[in-house]
Amino acid sequence: MRMLPTFDPRDTEAGLRILEDITSNAGHIQEQVLEEILTKNASTDYLKGFLDGHSDKGLFKNKVPVVDYEDIKIYIDRIALDGEPSRILTNESITELLKSSGTSGGKQKWIPKTAEEGERRAYFSCLLATVQNRYLQGLNDGKVLLFVLINPDIHTPGGLVLRTTSESEIKNRKDRYPQFILCEDTDQSLYSQLLCGLVQRDAIASVGTYFASGLLRVIKFFEEHWQEMSSNIRTGQMSDWITDPNCKRAVSLILNKQMPELADSIDIVCHEKSWEGIIKKIWPRTKYVLAIITGSMAQYIPALEFYTGGLPVVSPVYGSSEAFFGINMKPLCSPYDVSYTFIPNMAYYEFLPIDNHQDPNCTNRKDAHLKDHIVDLANVKIGQHYELLVTTFTGLYRYRMGDILLVTGFHNSTPQFKFIQRTNVVLSIHTDKTTEQDLQKAVAIAMQILEPLGFFLLDYSSYADTSSIPGHYVLFWELQLRSNDDIPELDQVKMEKCCSLVEQSLDQKYKMLRNQSISTIGPLEIRVVKQGTFNVLMDFYVSQGTSLNQYKTPKNIKSEKAIEILDSRVVGKFYSREVPNQDS
Ligand code: AMP
Repeated sequence: MRMLPTFDPRDTEAGLRILEDITSNAGHIQEQVLEEILTKNASTDYLKGFLDGHSDKGLFKNKVPVVDYEDIKIYIDRIALDGEPSRILTNESITELLKSSGTSGGKQKWIPKTAEEGERRAYFSCLLATVQNRYLQGLNDGKVLLFVLINPDIHTPGGLVLRTTSESEIKNRKDRYPQFILCEDTDQSLYSQLLCGLVQRDAIASVGTYFASGLLRVIKFFEEHWQEMSSNIRTGQMSDWITDPNCKRAVSLILNKQMPELADSIDIVCHEKSWEGIIKKIWPRTKYVLAIITGSMAQYIPALEFYTGGLPVVSPVYGSSEAFFGINMKPLCSPYDVSYTFIPNMAYYEFLPIDNHQDPNCTNRKDAHLKDHIVDLANVKIGQHYELLVTTFTGLYRYRMGDILLVTGFHNSTPQFKFIQRTNVVLSIHTDKTTEQDLQKAVAIAMQILEPLGFFLLDYSSYADTSSIPGHYVLFWELQLRSNDDIPELDQVKMEKCCSLVEQSLDQKYKMLRNQSISTIGPLEIRVVKQGTFNVLMDFYVSQGTSLNQYKTPKNIKSEKAIEILDSRVVGKFYSREVPNQDS
């Protein structure tokens, strides 16, 4: 592996110099990365099929097709299921397969990982730490309470370990994490992590999870268990049901005496009727919250603002099972302004321009001429939307990530991207295609009716119900009151107004189809579900193999079982009573 420019991770200035250097030479470094990948992997079965053993970059750009997961699944399955050698795809040795969360994009994917890739990602993490040390200076004075959960490893028939990115990071670098994080029982692990966080509440400077949705899950768990935790702290004894040796050992080092005063102070905070600002109240020295809050996570901004008491939310990175991409160089900026600066020596990045990003399917997915439109990292244009393609050392070549990004600026010569949405359409009936971003905007507008009444939307999802004619869109909403009271009977007129407002905020195509004399799409429906429903949905997806750390609520529910889970918890159904106005 080519040596990445080294630095002592504790030396922030040295790290920043390297960042300045690599972001000033993005174009050149990218060409080097591509050359290195081709030199290393030209003899793989996959590349030989297009390059005939050559490692020429021009040939690569000319001959290698743009693919998505379905196109290369056959190669990955040969390695994962049949135990064929890595060299089908890469001349690095595949040591693990990373399972992508698969809930936002649909199906779960298995992505090759190698030891060398582990080193590249560790390097990326050092650069990230540098940025955080620099820009969160003075805010990091204390401990970080980062909630992470792992599941047991699975082995593929071909003998490879199947894990998520976060599990891989934790299991390969065990020495860097407290022991209870190695517990594979998520309830015991989360209980232990929270308990230790409570005992050390005055030492915690920041609280976080990987994705914002995870933090809301932690808060719900805390709501269900705080009395038991407080009682453990009072007596100095952990509950009997925590039997995992890693948890017992790690917690006993911290919970080693009776602490009745601490328990009293926790009781006072948690007994308050409203949990507004609970994070700040329980961990009073917390200066910021760490969680990815962009893209589909942006829907959680209001809920997070409520629970954190307005603490800044730092959305640190854009990455995936396939590769790590970018770092947020302004960690304290508003969640709505976050952009990620790509790190040019991690992988080779290319971009497919998307002219009308409202319709992500506008680039025909199988168009043989797709590659004529591709631009490289150094040549993207500010204000343009692109779909990201990645070529990695680990066997992905011109692979469609399925993410749409907007170029917002440059850091030196390296572009910065705002994450816009996944390419997959969330809802579709007839010829209408509603994207995740459209739906999110429409839901936010409709919620303005309920917000003055003290409600916020904890989570939502949707599906196209075509069981009757015409089909219609169904949204499932889990509402919460700021006061923490039970949800009262909902005002029919206001809820119907919400339905109409969602419709009114969707695009012209939708409104046109709703307006046709023989309606092609029926009135939009909101089904309000009882509290805790989206946690049950999360548990369902976790039981299907998704990791809690990387879980993203699917916005387009396809699974009948998942729809059943939501439907069985519906407490109110409301329909739009107005046909949306096509002129606005
Ligand atoms: P996974 O492979 O399960 O880690 O999922 C990776 C996907 O998560 C990416 O392709 C994105 O769609 C999404 N993702 C990762 N980082 C971010 C981010 N910072 N903002 C928005 N979405 C993200």
